[in-house]
Amino acid sequence: STRYTAKNEPILEYRRGGKEVKQLEETLNEYKSKLNRIPCIVDGKEVWTNSVQRQLLPFDHQHVLAEYCLADPALLERAIESGVKNRSRWEQMPVEERANIFLKAADLGSDLKWRSRLLASTMLGQGKTIFQAEIDAACEVIDFWRFNVQYLASALAYSPISTRDSENTYIQRGLEGFVAAVSPFNFTAIGANLASSPALMGNTVLWKSASTAILSNYVVYKLLEEAGLPPGVIQFVPSKGGDFGRAITRSPHLAAITFTGSTDTFMTLWKWVADNIDNYRTFPRMIGECGGKNFHLIHSSADPTTIVYATIRSAFEYSGQKCSACSRVYLPRSMSKTFFAHMKSIMMNELKIGSPLQHETFTSAVIDRASFDNIRNYIEYARSSPTTKILVGGQCDDSVGFYVQPTLIETTDPKDKLMCEEIFGPILTVYVYEDDKYDETLELIDQTSNYALTGSIFCKDENVLKKTRARLMQAMGNLYINDKSTGAVVNQQPFGGARLSGTNDKAGGPHYIFRFSSPLAVKNMK
Ligand code: GLU
Repeated sequence: STRYTAKNEPILEYRRGGKEVKQLEETLNEYKSKLNRIPCIVDGKEVWTNSVQRQLLPFDHQHVLAEYCLADPALLERAIESGVKNRSRWEQMPVEERANIFLKAADLGSDLKWRSRLLASTMLGQGKTIFQAEIDAACEVIDFWRFNVQYLASALAYSPISTRDSENTYIQRGLEGFVAAVSPFNFTAIGANLASSPALMGNTVLWKSASTAILSNYVVYKLLEEAGLPPGVIQFVPSKGGDFGRAITRSPHLAAITFTGSTDTFMTLWKWVADNIDNYRTFPRMIGECGGKNFHLIHSSADPTTIVYATIRSAFEYSGQKCSACSRVYLPRSMSKTFFAHMKSIMMNELKIGSPLQHETFTSAVIDRASFDNIRNYIEYARSSPTTKILVGGQCDDSVGFYVQPTLIETTDPKDKLMCEEIFGPILTVYVYEDDKYDETLELIDQTSNYALTGSIFCKDENVLKKTRARLMQAMGNLYINDKSTGAVVNQQPFGGARLSGTNDKAGGPHYIFRFSSPLAVKNMK
């Protein structure tokens, strides 16, 4: 239980002509010029199943990036058996050795060879620009590995009081059974964290990656393998959601589900766990980070320039495909003219939309057809609704990639579905409130916050700020003051929310990994 102090991984700049860019371009070309074939991995062995699916480039959907194997129900059974079988050997490995694997992984990820693989696979498969890929697939992945080890080390430093009669110890055991990790497409780092946190704590894992993030997640798996992760600790089993959900919830050995994705899917998993509740050896733990409907609340004392840039970045970086993205703004009438004019001018003149491989691109295509159609439906709705008006954008074009233009909408109905439902795309809706109705607006925000993930308050008046914070206390899990609602950094802003946004277990904070621990308290008579 030696102390270990982590630091956040610095963000590299990828200047044109620099060695980082050179290495990255080589890796991009390597992935682009071949069909990347990806097996399932169970008990440390590759399994090439007959059910093969394709991962496309979202910004050029004729280009197949990867073919990957789907695990069918029979293979999922084998994966569960492998997890159960390998658990105790892994758990009994000295904790320092386990932790060292993840520190090694972090060092490998920091080095250009693996870093460029993490970046390139994320840029191509998930359509991220260099900067968005760097803060996710490099920095955040590495930060999760290092800080989770630090959190574990500080917990190991805890020892209960022993007395004259008894020596008392406290042991961080893994959970009994296997942990199921279900990860999303939008952050490679989330996949890495969901699969590695339980493993760090001595558990074996069944990892179901999002189909649209397979290549980058496979790179994470291969990196962990190179760092020394023993066979059979993480089973890499891309599969259909229903097959995976049924297989894990039917197993008596399910110890926990760690999930990031839609609220609906998380609810379905809870229900399936409830249906099987008589069968479990131990109560499964449910850890979920679901959607958000995040707001920027602007008070008339806010700085007019800050609010524009913060809102552009939060709403439109990575095309709004972050759980934390701002999708509704509350704007005082007194600032509305200048705000809209400034937003329009930036959106029309400065935001380059295109291939993420081009350095000057601000944002690229959305992830897939389903997402494109869903976002387009909201835009159609905005076009036809009498209470909403599209101020900028609104064009969709799927001829080459799944492109949706960043779109700014104004509504006069603060309870419009555009102000309540998660869209997960570059769609921002603004409600203008009368300056003297600020308190009513606070009420309204809380009422319409079925989700409670992130929220930003832009306000320079300390008294107003105090009142606002108190009133909106439960309307978010991450509060930003005079800053955008995205971009939580590991161990700076532990991330997660409550209400329909999840169990608020705070990835990147000191407690997350202990959801995967079932401690043993020992009293030993002297
Ligand atoms: N942690 C990310 C952020 O703060 C969002 C994660 C997510 O989209 O789930 O922007």
